[in-house]
Amino acid sequence: MVSRGTSQQSSAPFNRRIVLDVIRRAGSVSRKEIVDAVSLSPQTVANITHDLESIGLVVSRRLKEKVRGQPPIAFELNPHGGSSIGISLEPGGLSAALVNPVGDVIKKREVDLDTRNPRKVLANMVSIVKDLGSRRVAGERLWGVGVALPGPLVLTDISFVGPTALEGWTDLSILDELRGVTGLHVVYSVDSVAGALGESLSGVAKGLDTFFYIHFGVGLGGTLVVNRSAYKGASGNATEIGHMPVVANGKACYCGNRGCLERYLSLHSLAEDLGIPEVHDRGKEVLARMLAEDDKRLLAWCKQAAVHLRSAVCTVENILDPETIVIGGSAPKRLVEHVVRMAQPLDRSVRGGLVHPTERIVLSERQEDSSILGAAVLPIHEMLSPRVEVLMKDRRDSPKVEGLLGQRVTSGAGRV
Ligand SMILES: [Zn+2]
Repeated sequence: MVSRGTSQQSSAPFNRRIVLDVIRRAGSVSRKEIVDAVSLSPQTVANITHDLESIGLVVSRRLKEKVRGQPPIAFELNPHGGSSIGISLEPGGLSAALVNPVGDVIKKREVDLDTRNPRKVLANMVSIVKDLGSRRVAGERLWGVGVALPGPLVLTDISFVGPTALEGWTDLSILDELRGVTGLHVVYSVDSVAGALGESLSGVAKGLDTFFYIHFGVGLGGTLVVNRSAYKGASGNATEIGHMPVVANGKACYCGNRGCLERYLSLHSLAEDLGIPEVHDRGKEVLARMLAEDDKRLLAWCKQAAVHLRSAVCTVENILDPETIVIGGSAPKRLVEHVVRMAQPLDRSVRGGLVHPTERIVLSERQEDSSILGAAVLPIHEMLSPRVEVLMKDRRDSPKVEGLLGQRVTSGAGRV
């Protein structure tokens, strides 16, 4: 499904986002094909492609052969249209990358640190942002910084509690400070929203309108994407499936309840059950070795995790009926593959019989980098998104770009 343009005067930014989305999805597309896809007049589309070229997000190139009699010009996203920095913050460490508009990682950095100390996290983020920013091509625009964090982020009973969250934090004011110190536009979101956006814009969910994304990392999160927009719920905390109770009187959870899914299906639960170090504390190497050796205890853990994944998939499908469930996050792909394979055959659900069983769960192709790439997408996301309701509260500093995209300026970091 392609979103349709509208001829109302106030809809100009909306139309630009739709056109950008068509170009992104197609990879390379003629003006005639854009006109056909978005139901806007040829003149309006011409104006929009001109605008997008003028800010460097889109490039046009002359095709060798004529396409159905139309002027032989194709529009594409511009890989040299600046870059952005994505930061994925998880308990125990952060990873970050400088990424161009088409999703290529130009430079990556990883740091293990005590994330329970927000000041330490800020100092590391500032240092990494400055370092990565200096790696971009001289003169190229830096669109901003996207930060993906474990949710829920809106203050609730279960925010900032336990070892799978940013324990010890009380708010996200250090992101405002990051903006103040670096002078860059800073946007943040829950890690599962960032991962889902990344998959939707340039990953395995590129052709999908409605899917469910599972973030399998130190903790476990989820995001529902509807018509290519993240569903946020009444308070912005929707689909925190990690705290979905799956075992009556099960393991005690940090949220205060018992038997939450995350207690059986997350890297933290794995480390705890097997008595190995946490991921950031040599756990990564230990886990890699166990995976390489097909360690029996590890496979036993995968088997119990698979039971709970099977239930979760059935619940998600029956309630939400997504086209597929995409699994990404910082968990090693081989681990996720074991769990998904052991979860077969899946339970019967409203998706069963409609699609091939292998299409009910799809793994991210950049498993361990999905959050970081999703985070990098955040600053550019509002330009690439065709949906008004997912727009960020905060805007960039350039009046030229803001005017073009219908944006306004507020202070502090913005949330997607
Ligand atoms: Zn819980």
